[in-house]
Amino acid sequence: MNLILFGPPGVGKGTQAAHLTAKYGLRHISTGDILRAAIAAGSPLGKLAKQHVESGGLVPDDVIIGLVGEVLKEATEHKGFLLDGFPRTVEQAKALEVLFAELGVGNLHILMLEAPEEELIKRMVKRGLESGRKDDTEETIRHRLNVYLEQTQPVKAFYDEKRGVTVVDGLGTVEEITARLVDQLA
Ligand code: AMP
Repeated sequence: MNLILFGPPGVGKGTQAAHLTAKYGLRHISTGDILRAAIAAGSPLGKLAKQHVESGGLVPDDVIIGLVGEVLKEATEHKGFLLDGFPRTVEQAKALEVLFAELGVGNLHILMLEAPEEELIKRMVKRGLESGRKDDTEETIRHRLNVYLEQTQPVKAFYDEKRGVTVVDGLGTVEEITARLVDQLA
């Protein structure tokens, strides 16, 4: 089984991804985590990504598509994968279709978590205080939400037409939300 976990920033993709990958033995591919690790390590990818990530903008499509291509090739040897934070643009979604065809990826489910904007802001502000994530400050959060609406929301329509998307309520306790996601995969 392969999953794409989709949804706005702060909706809990990372938390739910950790539960789902543990439950199903999937490889967790979080582009945000990969970029943050690259920034911390000061690698060439990190240097390229730093300003985009810290300001809440998107890393250029060609960079992120190349990165995901590399990681997915390894992940297909695994039981399956969960993509968290990718694709974030229609361009990325199209490139992913090409990669899936090349790698023979099937059994794909697309799950979307949603929650009201005020709840997303509240969660991200809290995460920023707890984790020190540089992009979890109120101003950058608002920018990321705008980027989501403008560039990432259209990915939902792309998949609605092409593959179908299961929308899941992202409000509730972590356990409740995991149970809802698992129900959809049963
Ligand atoms: P996340 O941890 O998924 O919220 O991602 C944090 C930041 O990493 C985003 O705000 C972007 O700057 C960058 N990023 C993560 N995934 C992508 C992607 N698929 N395309 C472009 N930028 C990305």
